[in-house]
Amino acid sequence: MKYRECLREIKPYIPGKLKAGAIKLASNENPLGPSPKAIAALKKTLKDLYLYPDGGCVQLKQKLAQKYKLAPGNFILGNGSDEIFLFIAGLLIEPGDEMVTSEVTFSEYEFATRLFGGMPVFAPISDGKYQLPEILKKITSKTKLIFLANPNNPTGTYFTDQEFKGFMQAVPAETLVIVDEAYCEYVTEKDYPDTVKLLQNYPNLLITRTFSKIYGLAGLRVGYAIGNEELIANLNKTREPFNVNSAAQIAAAAALADKTFIRKSLANNKTGKTYLYKEFDKLGLKYYKTQANFIFVYINTDCLTAFQKLMDLGVTIRPMKSFGINNAIRVTIGTPAENKKFISLLKKII
Ligand SMILES: *Cc1c(COP(=O)(O)O)cnc(C)c1O
Repeated sequence: MKYRECLREIKPYIPGKLKAGAIKLASNENPLGPSPKAIAALKKTLKDLYLYPDGGCVQLKQKLAQKYKLAPGNFILGNGSDEIFLFIAGLLIEPGDEMVTSEVTFSEYEFATRLFGGMPVFAPISDGKYQLPEILKKITSKTKLIFLANPNNPTGTYFTDQEFKGFMQAVPAETLVIVDEAYCEYVTEKDYPDTVKLLQNYPNLLITRTFSKIYGLAGLRVGYAIGNEELIANLNKTREPFNVNSAAQIAAAAALADKTFIRKSLANNKTGKTYLYKEFDKLGLKYYKTQANFIFVYINTDCLTAFQKLMDLGVTIRPMKSFGINNAIRVTIGTPAENKKFISLLKKII
């Protein structure tokens, strides 16, 4: 068979490792589990699973519209935000077009681009932080998309409101800028961009968010994008009719209203972050200050070896080798007990 040329450059995604009985700090899931309100809502709807889902996600879009004080037409739902990245590439990438992003960032932007025959272009990163001026320098007449993760995965760093506004002013109006805010709910810094507010000024801005992280629903696969109605209507053309299953829609709507769970999750993250920083400091390990629920830390030893040893001892983390960094790992902030176990094993192996 003659496979499409662009597939040659696509490497299969390496998911966070699961090991029976091990503590998983490899995929930035919520260590407190799913929102209890989501579980309760799901239980009530099991009897309806023989029905096709609502293809328009009407109720969930209404809840999102209320939350953001926007219209339902400003939202599109995806089977995880990963699927929305495919909609975006499917909408705008012709073979040979370019997508600009940073080095050391989420790999799905490259995947979506390549799948449609586009070329990813990577701007340099510095000290774990996106350099927006470097991204601007990479824009050419072929640039259709710019993907920005804020906070960035795997480094946990962020760019500010001021940096972002300057950036948007310089981006050509024909280039779509996607800000992936998968971890925005965890952000504590006051100068984090209010991108939703900027939507009215920039028709070429699209924001993506997800129920996979703080809402604890990674297994159900549901994410969304927020943008102007015309752009959203066009994105809808690339979507298959029943892309978000009914369990995901019900659970997401319930989780959105579960303020207690979000508060607990944030408190747990804060406690864990403080503890891990302190322990890394004691060990003399360099790390990046995080605005998310994970920490990128240099462990001064080969990360694949460390990954294997930690897994054998009962904790999985993410080695940074696939990002081209041999001596660093990314660890999800867990519960206090999980963090303690991780640190005690880390001490053993480094
Ligand atoms: C986890 C993550 C997502 C979310 O992906 P889903 O498909 O919604 O589960 C998106 N972007 C980044 C940077 C992430 O780390």
